[in-house]
Amino acid sequence: MRVGVFGGGQLGRMMALAGYPFNLRFSFYDALPDCPSAPLGDLYGDESGSPESLDAFLASADVFTYEFENISTAWVERIARHKPVYPGVRSLAVSQNRLNEKALFDRLSIPAAPWRRIDSLEALQQAVAELGMPLVIKTVTGGYDGKGQFVIRSTDDIARAWTDLGAACPLLAEAFVRFQRELSIVAVRGQDGEIRCYPPAWNVHHQGILSHSVVPAPDISEASARQADAYIRAILEDLQHVGVMTLEMFDTGSGLVANETAPRVHNSGHWSIEGAICSQFENHIRAVAGLPLGSTDPLRPSAMINIIGRHPETAAILAIPETHLHLYGKTERPGRKLGHITVTAPTHIQLMDRIKVIAAVLPNRMAL
Ligand code: AMP
Repeated sequence: MRVGVFGGGQLGRMMALAGYPFNLRFSFYDALPDCPSAPLGDLYGDESGSPESLDAFLASADVFTYEFENISTAWVERIARHKPVYPGVRSLAVSQNRLNEKALFDRLSIPAAPWRRIDSLEALQQAVAELGMPLVIKTVTGGYDGKGQFVIRSTDDIARAWTDLGAACPLLAEAFVRFQRELSIVAVRGQDGEIRCYPPAWNVHHQGILSHSVVPAPDISEASARQADAYIRAILEDLQHVGVMTLEMFDTGSGLVANETAPRVHNSGHWSIEGAICSQFENHIRAVAGLPLGSTDPLRPSAMINIIGRHPETAAILAIPETHLHLYGKTERPGRKLGHITVTAPTHIQLMDRIKVIAAVLPNRMAL
């Protein structure tokens, strides 16, 4: 079987690395000839996204998936008329559009920050009056790692927010959540409807980018773990999603508040390559290929640490016990995710100590 992946970034690369042991073969659609997935399969695509390049890609595989959500639903629909695509277009339409996502949370009674759709400056002023400040303004499509966002903290900020983001209407205005920490849950749904969830991850960000994740989230209450599980199951079932899906949440200390979904393998799930019985990448490929799912049970406490902007010394990282290095074949650039490190330990306390040892040899600063 050949799997076609839209996008040739590190997520596609790690999907292929998980699928090769089953004798699966891969092709990728990406305009960049030196993208991280290029060494792992046939590459299709051009700058203009021409119909010819899409046709050639369509002919190259038996089943299709994607590794980023900002692809055209029209393209996915076009492929779906000829060959299976997982996840389906419904999952994509929700994750691509924050208003659809909020409506889904409301429909499934999943707690999320109160929100308003903004189409005009008057609507923005009204949202400030109704939801209070701080008020988080987000573009509806295309935002990631905190880009396309503005936090209104005083009435003076309303005009500034409008100048910055007004042209991107409609916008989403969302009440500010006073959270203690950020969590995510990664889960997979097979073609037969079976769902398996990884334990929730605790995610720490630095300058708007994920710095590291610790799994299982330390000291997470039984109730919160059950909530996270129930929320992602409800979403997977409602969308009839096939493949991996991620839900990012705020932990307020008295319950979880949903933030956003990703219809794909996720940076906060990279730990599972060495830290779980079956990784998120292998499980995604199993689901897409119609194979039985693997266990999502963690082997022991694990952490994933992103390598951002500059590469560390390979030998210095590998000298640290129970540490694994994954480099994506990218050139150095400030803020760019170049790779990640997984570290495991018998206990969370030992794990936190190992994270500090890794932080000391990383050229990028970590938020510890
Ligand atoms: P997002 O792109 O929605 O994941 O937002 C990026 C980051 O902004 C999140 O990881 C949070 O740290 C912060 N953030 C987003 N929405 C809110 C909110 N409603 N209240 C407080 N912080 C938020």
